[in-house]
Amino acid sequence: MKFPVEQIWIEDDAVDLPVTRSILARVSAEKILIGSEIAEEAGRIDLQPDPLHSGKRILKLVRYRGAFVKPCPGTREYNCCGLKILNIGQGCPIDCRYCALQVYFNNPVMEVYVNLDDMLRELSSFLTREAPEKFFRFCTGEFTDSLALEPLTGYVGPLADEFSGRANATLEFKTKSDYVEPFLELKNPRNIIVSFSMNAFSFSKTEEIRAASLQRRLNAASRVASQGFKVGFHFDPIVPFEGWEHGYGETVDAIFSAVSPDSIIWISLGVLRFVPKLKDVITARFGPLRYFFDSFSPGLDGKFRLSPQRRIAIYRSLARRIRSHGPNTLIYLCMESQGIWRDSLGLEIRNNQQLEELLDGAAISHTGR
Ligand code: SF4
Repeated sequence: MKFPVEQIWIEDDAVDLPVTRSILARVSAEKILIGSEIAEEAGRIDLQPDPLHSGKRILKLVRYRGAFVKPCPGTREYNCCGLKILNIGQGCPIDCRYCALQVYFNNPVMEVYVNLDDMLRELSSFLTREAPEKFFRFCTGEFTDSLALEPLTGYVGPLADEFSGRANATLEFKTKSDYVEPFLELKNPRNIIVSFSMNAFSFSKTEEIRAASLQRRLNAASRVASQGFKVGFHFDPIVPFEGWEHGYGETVDAIFSAVSPDSIIWISLGVLRFVPKLKDVITARFGPLRYFFDSFSPGLDGKFRLSPQRRIAIYRSLARRIRSHGPNTLIYLCMESQGIWRDSLGLEIRNNQQLEELLDGAAISHTGR
């Protein structure tokens, strides 16, 4: 699956990097701008009525100077799973209408961090200097889709090599694409988790613009699972549209038809929540989306959420369906409180550490430790 890239912007100090050269060899863009040529075009894009629309077709190659290893931007007020982010870039060529990233960055253009050697060096030093008894779950899919730009970047191989054989870390790639070919070439499936964001079929079709269809994602999941990789599934955001119970139930059934429960490392659930500004941006880009006008109220972290009763009912319904296929499948909730955990899943998760231990346990067994 290839996304249209109309322009490539290259920062001066990224021109000579090997990843830049290999991306340029793989893409045919109408326009390539370097260094000082970028500012004028960036100003023009910013003045467009929908800068994100153009920004999702422009790839900026950046020598990143910040930290590649970051804590997940969870919130203090809710249980957080302690995931570590490996920051490979920002922005995404897929255009989910609900995407929270639409208000996250002040730059509409996609960026890839092309100083791969610096990234690997930082990662390796992080993993070797930390206490050996500590375990780290990494994911690349927080500020971008993990695999949507993989046909251009080719990052799966070098990153997987860095994690291969380590007893203290796993790397999760989270995607709405179906580009899993690079995994099929890897020798060691341990330490690597390939995850797919899922939704109801009807909802995904209209709301996840340019994403691979759910069926294609499931086919991709089945391919990597048959090569020995563990796969994860993430239902986030779950949206209670009319007929949601049937819609999400259908997707759960389809997951278990595609992949054996033994191959599933975890399934996460998160009901739609959003910062107030997101609704305005989405309404300006796509018109009023009905599901953003439900009865939300601000949670402890200022994000809008549905009432606890409705969230619990939704989580219970999905959990019941998941457990009917995989009684032992690990289900976890994203950014929910102790009470919601207890009333939805019957689990007492009193603090972040307990949640971390729950997920670490699944990840550790995958490394073969
Ligand atoms: S795939 Fe993820 S990052 Fe990309 S637009 Fe959709 S929600 Fe946003």
